[in-house]
Amino acid sequence: HRLATMSLAYMRVGRWPLAAGLAASAAAAAYHRSSAAAASTCEPGIDPNKWTALTLSKVTTLSPNTAIYRFAYADPSAESGMMVASCLLTKAAIGSEKPDGSRANVIRPYTPISRPSVTGYLELAVKTYPEGKMSQHMASLKEGDTLDFKGPIVKLPYEPNGHKFIGMVAGGTGIAPMLQVIDEILANPTDGTKVSLLFANQSEGDILMKKEIDARAAAHSDQFTVHYVVDKTENSAWK
Ligand SMILES: Cc1cc2nc3c(=O)[nH]c(=O)nc-3n(C[C@H](O)[C@H](O)[C@H](O)COP(=O)(O)OP(=O)(O)OC[C@H]3O[C@@H](n4cnc5c(N)ncnc54)[C@H](O)[C@@H]3O)c2cc1C
Repeated sequence: HRLATMSLAYMRVGRWPLAAGLAASAAAAAYHRSSAAAASTCEPGIDPNKWTALTLSKVTTLSPNTAIYRFAYADPSAESGMMVASCLLTKAAIGSEKPDGSRANVIRPYTPISRPSVTGYLELAVKTYPEGKMSQHMASLKEGDTLDFKGPIVKLPYEPNGHKFIGMVAGGTGIAPMLQVIDEILANPTDGTKVSLLFANQSEGDILMKKEIDARAAAHSDQFTVHYVVDKTENSAWK
């Protein structure tokens, strides 16, 4: 097998390099718009060029510090307009206080875990950091509250059958971009790409979406395999 390890892990994308890359990604977003338009007649629920307020409609706890946040579009028939692999930006006026008393904007990128074709909403898996500005803000939102979104920002357009084998290494919420690509591959019966995922977490209880990932591996055992590693465990079954 030719091993193509995809450099999708967001840990490698610094905030400023990402900001600098936004202009460059505008062309890719335009490409995406035209290709997405060919595949779907739905209006995108978010826009790469302007901020759109989406409404928090559901929160599902995944682990003690991570949850899935579902944000609804104004139009229930809209799709995310995302392509694989891409991320989006969130914005909230929760930064340092300005001389006029208002607060500076805090902007953070996230990778939706919902499929691009899902209508009405998108979902983010977000880890809450003890002093994290955006993750704390998101955790404080109540259903019905809004958050500003902009996107998609194309990271690496995925081409079916571009590689025979893809090796992925992810930690914690770094699973989000991997799931985007895995789901794209498994949803396409003409894509023969095989995927191996090494998913690292602190403990067994921290493994995000293990049931869902195992279900994908069971349903596509010839194409997708997953191995979990943890930092600490009481369970001797872990080797
Ligand atoms: C392309 C991309 C996609 C991403 N996708 C996801 C995703 O799907 N899900 C996800 O959960 N994350 C994702 N991230 C990470 C995300 O963008 C944020 O970096 C993350 O949510 C933390 O942001 P924050 O504002 O909550 O924390 P920040 O305020 O930026 O703080 C970051 C860290 O510093 C610590 N800290 C903050 N203030 C202090 C202080 N005064 N003293 C000491 N420590 C401090 C915080 O506790 C935290 O550990 C992605 C990043 C990129 C680049």
